[in-house]
Amino acid sequence: MSAALLELDGVSKRFRRKISLGDRIAAKLGAKVETREVRAVENVSLSVIRGETLGLVGESGCGKSTLGRIAAGILPPTSGKASLDGRPVMSESGRHEKLTTRVQTVFQDPFASLNPRRRIGDAIAEGPLAHGLVDHAGAVAYVAEQLYRVGLDPSYASRFPHQFSGGQRQRIAIARALAMKPDLLICDEPVASLDVSIQAQVLNLFLDLRRALNLTAIFISHDLGVVRHLSDRVAIMYLGRIVEIGPSAEIYASPKHPYTQALLTSVPRLNRHREGRRAFRPIAGELPSPLSPPSGCHFHPRCTLATDRCRTEPPQLRSMGSDRHAACHLAE
Ligand code: SF4
Repeated sequence: MSAALLELDGVSKRFRRKISLGDRIAAKLGAKVETREVRAVENVSLSVIRGETLGLVGESGCGKSTLGRIAAGILPPTSGKASLDGRPVMSESGRHEKLTTRVQTVFQDPFASLNPRRRIGDAIAEGPLAHGLVDHAGAVAYVAEQLYRVGLDPSYASRFPHQFSGGQRQRIAIARALAMKPDLLICDEPVASLDVSIQAQVLNLFLDLRRALNLTAIFISHDLGVVRHLSDRVAIMYLGRIVEIGPSAEIYASPKHPYTQALLTSVPRLNRHREGRRAFRPIAGELPSPLSPPSGCHFHPRCTLATDRCRTEPPQLRSMGSDRHAACHLAE
């Protein structure tokens, strides 16, 4: 087994709930206002091996983006450790600064990370120049190479972000991240805001880059279908916990956890004949609030198989053989 590049060891993240204006008024009037914590990530341990792509999947609000930010060193965990090649991705001094540029992130909204008044050539060159990956003499050729690699004409370097379409901006964000020669690329819902046809183009680009550069990546999405062909392994998250993890092909062929099974049948597909014989069935109920997650198995209020044990005892991730794990009392 190859050594892990990224290791998350018992990582948890809690946020204090924001105090609303209504709460502040009530507190001023003497009412007792509860300040509760959001348990965004609960005791997650996983590793990513060099050269592999891990898909991280779950409904909006399940904690997958928070976990991605912890892995990238953007957010400190409340407890547990995130390390890259055995070294922490974030200072343990309490100042919480990011220690490495070796992890780069592509976000859902590339506009947010591009300065609208900065030409995209400058935006791409900025990081590599600052970190000595290229000198000023080589910067023009370096930027041209990055743009060409993501399928954009190098002459676009002099344009501003607003002169590009959503798909092109996402290509620029990918070029900018790869220009830093990262060891690990984290893509957080990179196609969620794009039209379906553009989504396919960006996903194909990612697949090509993955093969050409032997990328190590975490691909975060709410849609199991999106990560299906991109990922070597898939981790399914539900309310802050990993509920199933294993090789993609096996998870899609025979999901062990009832939530994974529900996710696979909850997305209507036009090409259903290519998706096997699973009938479309939306997941019952809403994702509960992470402010007050259900006791025991967090999924029990929506699970058709739930027993009394499920309501009181949290299931642990157990081996299901061949590098597969699932957190369900009934999975086998
Ligand atoms: S532990 Fe129980 S409630 Fe949770 S997924 Fe398994 S069967 Fe359903």
